[in-house]
Amino acid sequence: MDFCGFVADSMKWAKLYYHNPDFIYHLNGTKDKVFLTFDDGPTARNTEWILKTLDKYKAKASFFMIGNNIMQHPSLVREIVQQGHSVGNHTFNHDKGFRTGLMTYVQSVRKTQELLPEGSNLFRPPYGRIRLKQARSIQQMGLKIVLWSVISCDYEVRISPMRCYNLVHRRIGKGKIIVFHDSLKAEKNMRYVLERVLDEYSEKYKFEAIRL
Ligand SMILES: [Zn+2]
Repeated sequence: MDFCGFVADSMKWAKLYYHNPDFIYHLNGTKDKVFLTFDDGPTARNTEWILKTLDKYKAKASFFMIGNNIMQHPSLVREIVQQGHSVGNHTFNHDKGFRTGLMTYVQSVRKTQELLPEGSNLFRPPYGRIRLKQARSIQQMGLKIVLWSVISCDYEVRISPMRCYNLVHRRIGKGKIIVFHDSLKAEKNMRYVLERVLDEYSEKYKFEAIRL
């Protein structure tokens, strides 16, 4: 298995590693629902395009956003919420859990939480990496830790849009949480894969926002 194949399956390993039943990798009992998620936004470049594309297919999604980006584009956050999508916390500076002290990490999450609409309770650690102590503190704030079951590798500039699509295509299924990136680096791959996934699967699945 090559690197992207490994990354695409990485959550299986994370699940074994964390032994944490509170982390959410997929949503059971959801019939024909699939959950698209977008990390690292909002961005002036991509968020509007993502919203327009989702709307074209009547799809809903979840946006895990960086506090620093929210501060720069508050109107995009309002637009995301108004269009019926859910929003989540992705730390203030895209902090690396394994390299950040507990207090600094928690403060970063808290600072971001203050910028999100009241009642937001979703959190995704950048890179899917978090120490258990950090996770416990964040859960005590009332946040649910949402990871993923399918990664598109859209941020990987060395791989083709077609290859990214295949990573999703081979793993998509009911209850799956799929991760894309609202970032400049992922733009080319993300746009191709999102449009194609929506086009090919909108009849088979219902794309919904995560609400816990
Ligand atoms: Zn991220």
